[in-house]
Amino acid sequence: MAARLGMTSAHEAVLGFLNTIVRQGEKTVDLLATGEAVVRWLEQSGLAATPVATGMEPEELSREARLLRERVRELICRRRVGIAIEVSVLNEYLAGGNYRIELSGDDEGELRVVRRFSSDTPRQVLMAVAVAAADLLARGDFRVIRKCENVDCSLWFYDRTKSHRRRWCEMALCGNRHKVTQFRMRGNPE
Ligand SMILES: [Zn+2]
Repeated sequence: MAARLGMTSAHEAVLGFLNTIVRQGEKTVDLLATGEAVVRWLEQSGLAATPVATGMEPEELSREARLLRERVRELICRRRVGIAIEVSVLNEYLAGGNYRIELSGDDEGELRVVRRFSSDTPRQVLMAVAVAAADLLARGDFRVIRKCENVDCSLWFYDRTKSHRRRWCEMALCGNRHKVTQFRMRGNPE
């Protein structure tokens, strides 16, 4: 497995990792509910370039991924509001990591220096995520790392607007819902 993303994209992938559980109102969808789903997500995220080694318990991989996700979420939540974080929470994960550096070329002759992580254990499979999360905590731009302001919505996003005033994961979803609530409150003062 190789890390191949630039810093900002890797940070966005970490927010994408948090968003693999979607809570909107009553509804909850978990995109890491199985080991296969975790492998699929890692491939699509750009954090892990190659499929992971087989032979490990899929349930174990899913369990570890969900555990890491909630730990990272807590660390990011705290960091965002300036509360000191317990670094050992993530270091416990990082300690199991093992990688080598490789010069890698693609078909077009582009060269990249990549980190190839071992993938023998669930934690090693998830290492690219843990490393990206550590980097986000240390160097992430917390002016643009946001959680949707809808309290019933669990989604995070990277605010790329010029004014850095984006409030909603999706205007069409949470933004409009907010508008409707505001409209009702104005229409029916209690
Ligand atoms: Zn939202």
